[in-house]
Amino acid sequence: MSAKPFNAFAMAQAQFDRAADLLGLDQATRDLLRYPMREYHFSLPVRMDDGSVKVFRGFRVQHNDARGPGKGGIRFHPQETIDTVRALAMWMTWKCAVVNLPLGGSKGGVICEPHNLSQRELEGLCRAWVRQISRDVGPVLDVPAPDVMTSAQHMLWMLDEYEWIHRGHYPGFITGKPVGMGGSLGRTEATGYGVVFTVREALKELGIRPQDTWASVQGFGNVAQYAIELLQQIGAKVVCVSCWDQEDQKAYCFRRGAGVDLAQLRAITDRFGSINKRKAGELGYEVLPGEVWIEQDVDILIPAALENSITGDNVGRISARVKLIAEGANGPTTLEADHVLKERGVFVIPDFLANAGGVTCSYLEQVQSNMNYYWEKDEVLSKLDVMMTSAFLDVRETAKKRKLYMRDAAYIIAIARVAQACRDRGWV
Ligand code: NAD
Repeated sequence: MSAKPFNAFAMAQAQFDRAADLLGLDQATRDLLRYPMREYHFSLPVRMDDGSVKVFRGFRVQHNDARGPGKGGIRFHPQETIDTVRALAMWMTWKCAVVNLPLGGSKGGVICEPHNLSQRELEGLCRAWVRQISRDVGPVLDVPAPDVMTSAQHMLWMLDEYEWIHRGHYPGFITGKPVGMGGSLGRTEATGYGVVFTVREALKELGIRPQDTWASVQGFGNVAQYAIELLQQIGAKVVCVSCWDQEDQKAYCFRRGAGVDLAQLRAITDRFGSINKRKAGELGYEVLPGEVWIEQDVDILIPAALENSITGDNVGRISARVKLIAEGANGPTTLEADHVLKERGVFVIPDFLANAGGVTCSYLEQVQSNMNYYWEKDEVLSKLDVMMTSAFLDVRETAKKRKLYMRDAAYIIAIARVAQACRDRGWV
């Protein structure tokens, strides 16, 4: 952990400022894009199983919707803060823009510890969240989705509540719905696979064959598991994964020199992405402290847990062998660490490009929901591959042409598109 208190929003604004300078943005556009357009803070009273009422805090932040309705997930997390949600909403704006989706950026959150809530209590929390915000979200306003510790089931409860309030069927209100209830095939895999579509393209660029690479992954949730699945399919060896241990309140790494067996690890992982360390030990994995994922002797690092993972304090521990970092998580690299990576010449695929597969597939889900006609999984995943690859190539070309770091190039493309939409609408 970094010694300085981490503020994701301050980091998102600093990243924006740098890109705004590179673009020479005018003052009004800077003022508009540096802050969210709207944000909502609300209380969520929930009847608990023991009959008491507990009041949770919830948020929805709408950063910018010049290019289309807001889009962004809802996180349930005990350390959620309004600044984290603001940063994530801003990153959603850039993410949708870099993939050229006709959507804006939003994000939601609830401060809660889902591990300590029953299914009934979680349902109550989801429905309470929708009751508070239902007038200001919707298919043509702002479309929520799952994120950290929220699932397809949560989305369906939220949709059901929204449809009760608005008296009709509105499958376009939310994405990440269960398949068969308006969800898209391929959504579960989309973010992790999307990370690997960009890794595959970056390796081509670096002239490295996937079969010759080793990787270490932080996290073992939705993004990490599907990233590992596709990485292994394209021939890479994943030697280390990590996760948060709820019981001990700390992270652990699981290492196996021969490469992790994904099916085996999945079988001993709970629904929150926590691997059972006793069983992993019995299966022959080395169980190590959580921070060592970063110092593995590998070619590829994939932070796919939470923000603030690669910091000024631990960036020096990254092996000289690492050539590529694909940011599966949002905001995993602090500005200080990013500067070091840039100096070292590590190829970094920035978060809002690398993990855009989720929102891209959510967009494909919206399209299918609107048509009321659903595609086969292969069709969804091949559309996703085309869109992610083309976004990666756009950024790569700009980076090459203007001799920029990939993150700066991605920012320039995204911010220029959003700024143009604001200008075209006559907002600035
Ligand atoms: P998840 O809840 O499914 O999994 C999170 C994983 O991280 C779990 O395995 C958890 O144990 C682990 N973890 C938590 N703290 C950790 C720590 N300190 N060290 C090591 N592991 C830790 O979440 P997810 O959906 O996989 O999301 C992961 C990241 O990707 C988040 O930053 C999220 O915002 C981002 N993201 C997710 C999606 C998506 O579609 N799910 C899309 C874009 C971005």
